[in-house]
Amino acid sequence: MVVENIVIGNGIVGQFLALKLYSLGKQVTLVGKGVPFERFLLIHECGFRALESIVEQIPVFHLNGIKAFWEGNIRWTLPFDQWRLRLGTITYHHLWKILQEELQTRNIPIIESHVIRLYEQTGTIVLENNQVIKGNNISLTVPLNEFTNRHKPTLTYRHSKPLYMGWTEMPAHHHWAYQWQSKLGYSLLIPMREKYVFVTTDPENANELSQICEIPLPNSWIKLPLQSHWYLKRQYGKVTLVGDAARRMHPHTGLGLNDTLRQISKKQISFTHKLKDFSLFIGGIFLENCWGRRKWCLPITYKMFSMKLIRNWFWA
Ligand SMILES: Cc1cc2nc3c(=O)[nH]c(=O)nc-3n(C[C@H](O)[C@H](O)[C@H](O)COP(=O)(O)OP(=O)(O)OC[C@H]3O[C@@H](n4cnc5c(N)ncnc54)[C@H](O)[C@@H]3O)c2cc1C
Repeated sequence: MVVENIVIGNGIVGQFLALKLYSLGKQVTLVGKGVPFERFLLIHECGFRALESIVEQIPVFHLNGIKAFWEGNIRWTLPFDQWRLRLGTITYHHLWKILQEELQTRNIPIIESHVIRLYEQTGTIVLENNQVIKGNNISLTVPLNEFTNRHKPTLTYRHSKPLYMGWTEMPAHHHWAYQWQSKLGYSLLIPMREKYVFVTTDPENANELSQICEIPLPNSWIKLPLQSHWYLKRQYGKVTLVGDAARRMHPHTGLGLNDTLRQISKKQISFTHKLKDFSLFIGGIFLENCWGRRKWCLPITYKMFSMKLIRNWFWA
């Protein structure tokens, strides 16, 4: 079987890319199985615009912005409406289901299987049941080193601080995300429509944020040991790396998905694209090393927002 375009990985990026290729009149087959672990997604302006080109309205929980505390005192408030930027939250599964319905409505073929082997020069993939498919163009949203040890990322960074994520089942009544920082670490509280999510460097550290916001702590935490990587080369024979497969960044940047959706929408496979990815890769490491430890890091980051530097480069 030979297909014009194959997208490997049925995650949100794979789904979105398949829908975009279809809208350009291309023949496309999506190959992938399983939804990754549940997580929150903050959708920013660039993500909204990209998603709205496919789905009219994205049912997010709209946020007013972020309030940041340093050791108990409020330091910064970032209201997004002042900058005419939207910010909303949705769970990974919720968005995944919406895009899956769009794929089904358009009858885009989905092969529910894992790929067990990939030959990048011939564009051949082998599925779990040993079925072989050939593609003229293959877009890979799964890290390349899952298939081969020959292609290592140009840069890899294993983050020293694990993140902990936990859910509190309680309908949201705050429209602000809260950020708490102290010398011990940092925590975030993000409201979703039907629940709140806490993210912290240490579950002990989330206590104060829970008290200030009057939201009970989660009953359990998921530990997320994180690693970022960045590929300079993204084309291997007939295979193109897309999204997290081309670069995985720290969730601090809040742009892993948003920026990929924007790049796919703009069909931007250029030097600027790589430069942005690289700055987000470095930005994630910077934030990880400074947040909660250095008081100056927060004002500098927010100053860059208000000087329109960050938002024009990444968000708008
Ligand atoms: C805690 C957390 C919070 C985040 N918050 C945000 C945020 O607020 N905003 C934002 O923009 N980004 C955020 N991100 C980043 C965002 O989640 C990722 O950038 C995005 O999910 C990448 O989508 P993807 O489809 O490329 O990969 P994934 O979502 O990981 O999907 C990959 C798919 O490939 C499938 N697969 C794996 N192996 C194979 C195989 N061998 N064959 C076939 N299929 C396979 C998997 O089952 C999965 O379905 C966050 C990340 C984390 C960890």
